[in-house]
Amino acid sequence: MHKTVIIGGGIAGLATAFNLQEGGSTSYTLVESAPRWGGKITSAHEGGFTVEGGPDSFITQKVAALNLCKRLGLEDQLVGSNSGKSASTYIYSGGRLHSMPEGMMLMAPTMILPFLRTRLISWPGKLRCGMEIFIPRSHSEEDESLASFVRRRLGDELLNKIAGPLMGGIHAADPERLSLRSTFPMFLEMEKKHGSLMRGMMKRPKPSTTPGVKRPSMFMTLRGGLEQLSEAIIARLDPQSLRAGCGARSVSLEEGRYIVSLSDGSSIVADDVVFATPSYVTADLIEPLDSTLAKQLRAIRYVSTATVSLGFRRSEVEHPLQGAGFIVPRGEGRRITACSWSSVKFNHRAPEDCVLMRVFIGGAFAEDLAEQDEVALVQLAREEIQTILGITATPLLAQAYRWPKANPQYDLGHAARIAAIEQNLAAHPGLHLAGAAYRGSGIPDCIQSGIAAAQTITTRHAQAEGARQSETPPVCIES
Ligand SMILES: Cc1cc2nc3c(=O)[nH]c(=O)nc-3n(C[C@H](O)[C@H](O)[C@H](O)COP(=O)(O)OP(=O)(O)OC[C@H]3O[C@@H](n4cnc5c(N)ncnc54)[C@H](O)[C@@H]3O)c2cc1C
Repeated sequence: MHKTVIIGGGIAGLATAFNLQEGGSTSYTLVESAPRWGGKITSAHEGGFTVEGGPDSFITQKVAALNLCKRLGLEDQLVGSNSGKSASTYIYSGGRLHSMPEGMMLMAPTMILPFLRTRLISWPGKLRCGMEIFIPRSHSEEDESLASFVRRRLGDELLNKIAGPLMGGIHAADPERLSLRSTFPMFLEMEKKHGSLMRGMMKRPKPSTTPGVKRPSMFMTLRGGLEQLSEAIIARLDPQSLRAGCGARSVSLEEGRYIVSLSDGSSIVADDVVFATPSYVTADLIEPLDSTLAKQLRAIRYVSTATVSLGFRRSEVEHPLQGAGFIVPRGEGRRITACSWSSVKFNHRAPEDCVLMRVFIGGAFAEDLAEQDEVALVQLAREEIQTILGITATPLLAQAYRWPKANPQYDLGHAARIAAIEQNLAAHPGLHLAGAAYRGSGIPDCIQSGIAAAQTITTRHAQAEGARQSETPPVCIES
């Protein structure tokens, strides 16, 4: 029987296994080096708080995560972000929090008055931003960094105070190195089509609505935390196909089939192998099969981050917390990059009279801060929250999560790097890549990469089966 080994039990590996099993055409084993499933998805419950260590939600515009939740019967567990009453994000600048001007679409202002009124951007900065409409489109086909694009179209101040910390922050990246094409291609398309972002924003079609059908919130999570998603997948998978606490050590090729050697000394013979591991792990596993491919995989950089969740009594926090949280531009001399007000963003995150917030540390500019131990991380988060929000109380809950080399960097040239990797991979039929390093690092992208890997394997299997049957001589029935 056609056999697949999936290496890595994060959301990409789990999605691959689930889709293979639903396809019903192949037997598989999912191996995970850690004792638990879910990879970066990890939720904890303490004293009435629901704490997310890694991702806290997924975007619904890309439908893979929402659809998977529905397929798993989690529809009644879905919780949308409280976007209506608390969509605003704040920006820390000059020692205080400024509300993001209403109408900002990530980097581009779409409403004039709120943008003119904000004290976050200086008058020269506003004027420079307004010039955007007259700046000719670029005809260059070269990959451009987020920083170069924003500086060219909207000016330095908008880059440093809004676009850099907000959009670079999503990827924990340095905007000077982040490929716009591989992360926010819609802005390039807008420039190409309309010659200006502001013109493009004004002309963009209103999202279509079907009467009686409510559009899902832009961000969604699960009532009991995102780990409900990985738990629901595991509950559906065949327990005989699951090996947690048992990592892959090496992959070799013998007589046209792959041998996956595991950390417990056993090995599995497979026709297909899906690497749903960070690309630097995949590089080590693939090295004996193709050192060029391994080198290309190692060229995808990762940076370290950390999160610290702090729970307080509501009465101990003076700030109204009317928003999703705040971001901290690099030049402000602080040691955190952002803070999200988790219990304002989503219901079911804190007891009634409490608030939960989550502080982000590290990323491209401060990896060393993220690599400290948990006690130091909590201390740092508390000090920064005291300075920025004035909270002096001892938290009811303080939980740090370290994420060493966890965030893949979509550096300039990323698309070309991935194309080259895929070209070399094609020389190894049966090997597949899934996960955050390649074509999107958000949860929906990772799920989609697992769906794609499962589909390729199912097709390969069907083709192999078809070829086998056509080679079988017809059975001659003697009368
Ligand atoms: C702090 C943080 C916050 C984030 N927030 C969001 C968010 O809000 N929304 C969003 O959409 N995305 C978010 N992301 C991104 C998203 O969570 C990740 O990109 C995604 O979960 C990665 O899934 P994955 O399956 O590719 O990799 P992982 O989750 O990293 O899974 C890989 C698995 O492979 C295992 N493994 C490693 N080596 C081996 C081996 N040799 N053998 C077997 N197994 C091995 C690992 O133990 C791990 O379980 C966030 C990421 C971080 C770090």
